[in-house]
Amino acid sequence: MKGADTGDVKLELRSLRKVFDGVEAVKESNLILKRGEFLSLLGPSGCGKSTTLAMIAGFLEPTSGEILIDGKPVTHVPVQKRRIGLVFQDYAIFTKMSVRKNLLFGLEAQKVPRAEREKTVDEFAEKLDLKGLMKARGGELNMSEMQRVALARVLVTKPELLLLDEPMSNLDAALRASLRGELKRIQKDLGQTVLYVTHDQIEAMSMSDRIAVMNFGENLQIASPDDIYHRPKNRFVAEFIGDPPINMISCTVTGSGRSQRVSTEVHKDIPFETKVVSPGDHVLGIRAHHIVAAHEAFHGSIAAVVKLVENFGSEHVLHVTYGQDLLTVMVQPGFAREGDEVHVSFDLKDAHLVDRNSGAIYHPDEREAAA
Ligand code: ATP
Repeated sequence: MKGADTGDVKLELRSLRKVFDGVEAVKESNLILKRGEFLSLLGPSGCGKSTTLAMIAGFLEPTSGEILIDGKPVTHVPVQKRRIGLVFQDYAIFTKMSVRKNLLFGLEAQKVPRAEREKTVDEFAEKLDLKGLMKARGGELNMSEMQRVALARVLVTKPELLLLDEPMSNLDAALRASLRGELKRIQKDLGQTVLYVTHDQIEAMSMSDRIAVMNFGENLQIASPDDIYHRPKNRFVAEFIGDPPINMISCTVTGSGRSQRVSTEVHKDIPFETKVVSPGDHVLGIRAHHIVAAHEAFHGSIAAVVKLVENFGSEHVLHVTYGQDLLTVMVQPGFAREGDEVHVSFDLKDAHLVDRNSGAIYHPDEREAAA
């Protein structure tokens, strides 16, 4: 990636790499975080998210590569001089101090006038639902309360660059859901630049302007949540995002160019212009939301038996037979029960053809470009 030196770049990583005892935890990471942007590093445990963040924060020396903040190299600048706000998984708060004192601490260090300090702390206590706890000592709080205090004491200082590493991991589902909205609102109001580490796709999808999906130390795709969901670049991204996971169906591609066709065990010889995928055995990816189910047969449908119904509340997920495989299909609650016969069909325009060898997925415009 070419180095950008325009004023709207807050953070830039250039070929950032970290090797631990021969294990490449982060591989040549290139990333630009724009001012005011909320970008998430999303990936499974051990993919290198925290290592990336620790290098940006200054806790870990990179093996090679460069980190720039506001266009200036900071790779060898000490932590305290990087002017970064941090909340890590193993958050730290002062256990002997009251919650109010915890929140005031950073503002006192910044020499913010007293009246303004108090006002800001009250404001954030309200936003993060801490008002009833202001007199309690840090050590008296439960995990969820401590996590909110850790978040609040950094947010009150309004850092120019905020690094958050799984800051909601100790919260229950309901609190996480409400805090997601609150955090996004605070970030937008303050125009704060945030790099957020999570393995939770809902957190990443709901809060981020862009997401970097990582696996084995590599940034596989950096794009908007919509693009990550609808236009995944490869099989890993397609399978990591979406609940239920995308259906992956074995298929065979025949012909080439405009006469290319795709066959699955059930659907035979369907025109599917891919151009860049060579003939042979490949994989067709289709999301449960893009499969249509009906009680009666319809044009192009195939009969399928419901093997399992998963209750998602507002929707149900049917697991239905498709040749030797099972497909997941989203339906309205009550649509079918286990053992019922239903009729399903999908439109190939919603499907992704995955190159079986490389795992790459090409989208229509890229197919044109690569053809
Ligand atoms: P998690 O969500 O579980 O924290 P992560 O995506 O943040 O995962 P990292 O903690 O960055 O992943 O770890 C990336 C890889 O580097 C893993 O294989 C991990 O075992 C290894 N690793 C991390 N820190 C060290 C260290 N200090 N010494 C040796 N190996 C390390």
